[in-house]
Amino acid sequence: DHEEEPSSDFIFRSKLPDISIPNHLPLADYVFQKFSGDGDGDSTTTCLIDGATDRIFTYNDVQIISRRIAVGMHRLGIRHRDTVMLLLPNSPEFALSFLAVAYLGAVSTTANPFYTQAEISKQAKASAAKMIITKRCHVDKLTNLQNDGVLIVCVEGGDDDVPLVDGCVSFTELAQADETEFPKPEISPEDTVSIPYSSGTTGLPKGVMITHKGLVTSIAQKVDGENPNLNFTADDVILCFLPMFHTYAFNSLVLSAMRTGSAILIMLRFELNLVMELIQRYKVTVVPVAPPVVLAFVKSQETEKYDLSSVRMMLSGAATLKKELEDAVRLKFPNAVFGQGYGMTEAGTVAKSLAFAKNPFKTKSGACGTVVRNAEMKVVDTINGTSLPRNKSGEICIRGDQLMKGYLNDPEATAQTIDKDGWLHTGDIGFVDDDGEIFIVDRLKELIKFKGYQVAPAELEALLISHPYIDDAAVVAMKDEVADEVPVAFVVRSEGSQITEDDVKSYVNKEVVHYKRIKMVFFIEAIPKAVSGKILRKELRAKLETEYLK
Ligand code: ATP
Ligand code: MG
Repeated sequence: DHEEEPSSDFIFRSKLPDISIPNHLPLADYVFQKFSGDGDGDSTTTCLIDGATDRIFTYNDVQIISRRIAVGMHRLGIRHRDTVMLLLPNSPEFALSFLAVAYLGAVSTTANPFYTQAEISKQAKASAAKMIITKRCHVDKLTNLQNDGVLIVCVEGGDDDVPLVDGCVSFTELAQADETEFPKPEISPEDTVSIPYSSGTTGLPKGVMITHKGLVTSIAQKVDGENPNLNFTADDVILCFLPMFHTYAFNSLVLSAMRTGSAILIMLRFELNLVMELIQRYKVTVVPVAPPVVLAFVKSQETEKYDLSSVRMMLSGAATLKKELEDAVRLKFPNAVFGQGYGMTEAGTVAKSLAFAKNPFKTKSGACGTVVRNAEMKVVDTINGTSLPRNKSGEICIRGDQLMKGYLNDPEATAQTIDKDGWLHTGDIGFVDDDGEIFIVDRLKELIKFKGYQVAPAELEALLISHPYIDDAAVVAMKDEVADEVPVAFVVRSEGSQITEDDVKSYVNKEVVHYKRIKMVFFIEAIPKAVSGKILRKELRAKLETEYLK
């Protein structure tokens, strides 16, 4: 390792060599490259399985149907660089629509279908959406947009089997266009292909412009090369219950899976017993999760009723997962390699466990991976900005072709996030250890400042949930006259448990140095979390002020 040159930055790289990435290709051509021309993919194999209906789409079906939809959209006036909003639950239609938009050189913006009318309007307007693809049950929230001339396409079927609303176009009809009329557009690698939104954990969700080049690079960093960092293969069945409107599920998993020719089993949402039933029925090999799902598996008494032995890989991301929980879930999946990925909407996957490589490396529990290949990472001091060596915590910065083009309609925020040298500042505090593995401590904005000390809520939360009578927990800062801020805990008791505030405090406080001690405990029914699995500490801080400390 030669990163420790004097007077230059300490830069961390993957242990895997850089590869050549065909990021001049438009996204859809890249994703299906295996199945075109001289590619070796078998397009009669399964691409999508709809877990709700058992419908199956082969790679051939997916390419043809999404091209048909592209033609249908084009007929309705959607052109290169226009925006289409996907307001859909996890479903094959989500994936098909996304690909259709990409084929057209148009831009998709994805939103949680359970958003309110106001939230949807805001995003549709900010992204200048000309069309919204949705289900019957969400159409009522779109009348104002429809009156402004936005086209509404409605997916029928299931329990939405009622006549179309006036003026809506049927998705089935859209998908019946003739794919040979496909108007191949001139797509530039710098064109935006999607505008996903960040989760809104620290503030309002931000629209993030992702280019064809950025997304192709991000996928290639994971699944391309002779020794791919994330070794998905055509034999894999990958379960997808994480929300597809979020980058982690769609960009990191679904599109990466398609690049490798694996099958993707789509579930509407996470439901523990149904997940286990589907794993058993379809012999699922890969289960991507977020920490609340890991917690559900660990706390469940029913995992032994199912045959989970087909699972060979379990990946967690989206939020901190500490060693204790990771060790506990390993016991439930004896045949699975467990590891984490770390990423963000703005930068795609930043790190991925090398335990998932084709020729795997030994990795440590609690690490969130090693920086992806074809990228550079550094850790900077949060006060003076200098780069730090191994084992020193600071803000993680990442550089490479995978980064976003910028925040939507917000050049100022973009300039604050990506500096003039091309480094994206993640807002996450972490360090790189002697083996190149990254450990996330917490978000810069969430660290609790006790006098001069910094306390990471995630560390205390890990301790709390290791208690058998605690189902879930979250830690936030409370204002304090002497210390500035002190940690307080919100705790969900397990069923039938009588655990008291004093029990909780003494359990944690004997394990930690004085400034990390929990000062108060509030019992609560459930910890508020974003659908992507993150603890919404900002809601708890607000609750603290409005309800508990009045
Ligand atoms: P917003 O930026 O709107 O406040 P957000 O940062 O939660 O919301 P996302 O882009 O969905 O929005 O999430 C990225 C963040 O998720 C990262 O910056 C990091 O804080 C967290 N994260 C992702 N993976 C991990 C991981 N493996 N360990 C710890 N934190 C993670
Ligand atoms: Mg963020």
